[in-house]
Amino acid sequence: MGAYCSQISFTVLSILLIISTSLAQSTWRNEINLPDILGYTTLVCDFHTHTVFSDGNVWPTVRVLEAWREGLDAIALTDHLEDHPYEEDVIINLERPHQIALPEAVDLNLFCIKGAEITKKMPPGHFNALFLTNASALKSDSYQDALKAAMAQGAFIIWNHPGWRQPEGKGIWYDEHTQIYNNGWMHGIEIVNEKTYYPQVQAWAMEKNLTMIGGSDIHGPTDFEFRFETGDHRTCTLVFAKDKSEAGIKEALFARRTAVWVENKLIGEELYLKPIFFNSIDIINPQKPFTPGSDLAIRIRNHSDLSYELIASEKIPGWMFPRRLILPANKTTYFYISSDGKLEEKSTSLELPYTVQNLFVAPSQGMKVFLKVQVLLK
Ligand code: ZN
Repeated sequence: MGAYCSQISFTVLSILLIISTSLAQSTWRNEINLPDILGYTTLVCDFHTHTVFSDGNVWPTVRVLEAWREGLDAIALTDHLEDHPYEEDVIINLERPHQIALPEAVDLNLFCIKGAEITKKMPPGHFNALFLTNASALKSDSYQDALKAAMAQGAFIIWNHPGWRQPEGKGIWYDEHTQIYNNGWMHGIEIVNEKTYYPQVQAWAMEKNLTMIGGSDIHGPTDFEFRFETGDHRTCTLVFAKDKSEAGIKEALFARRTAVWVENKLIGEELYLKPIFFNSIDIINPQKPFTPGSDLAIRIRNHSDLSYELIASEKIPGWMFPRRLILPANKTTYFYISSDGKLEEKSTSLELPYTVQNLFVAPSQGMKVFLKVQVLLK
């Protein structure tokens, strides 16, 4: 009996070992569903990350693997030029994070952009320089010399987290920023850093034609910061690129074709957010005769990873439709519209007026849309 039991235990143990070994050999990538727009490819990018080569807590290849698993298309490694708490443990060579990460990124078809964070006290604060060839060349006590060195390499330069450690968390546009901007040394600005949104910085971006950027500024492992199992994601910049390449990303950044994805919000210009919304949904509208006074069922399929929160912005005389409409990600919403029975036209084209509250086309301001519905009256 004892021998029989130990035989079974041995078999169970062997099976468990086989299962655990095979699980350890596989992982998976979350595929993000966000539509392409206007003939451009939508790429999901994080242009602000740290490794142990500055004050991050992970090795550069881990940044690549995390980004691949989360479904991103590109990351930039932007270690601080100035802040190196692990310098007694890691030889600080600012060319190394990108060199170490690149082969893994190439294998996984993920773009890994070489960057660095110029880290000065405010003003002017912190700036990411992307698409560098030589990060070490930016090391200088003078922020002007650091920015000049970045410009000499054709870098795309972003003012990071303008509201960080500022009164009430609001950014202040100092004279130093005017000089940097007038010199053409600032191309983009973080309107979101981590999960903090700076509405007035969005206004600056719109007034001054700066590219809107959202960065995770991740220091620890991403799965400590985000609840991926509940659909959470890191803050990203959506880039609308002519082609899926590093050059395509760079061209789109300089051309300001971006939007910021934070939690369940998209922030950007209406020019891009409107097609994102309409390319995400299909309105399924039965073409059967409708008796005034009865209900007409409409379905809207949202095949994107963004849930849309709509609120009616006006009334339409003679018609009733939901005041509040949620279009959950990757689901089909079913709702009714009805008329008051006094309608006379045989066929009516209705445009249901809504505001999409989680698409910010101006500081904290939703986007107006019209949902087109056809009604055939009996
Ligand atoms: Zn940073």
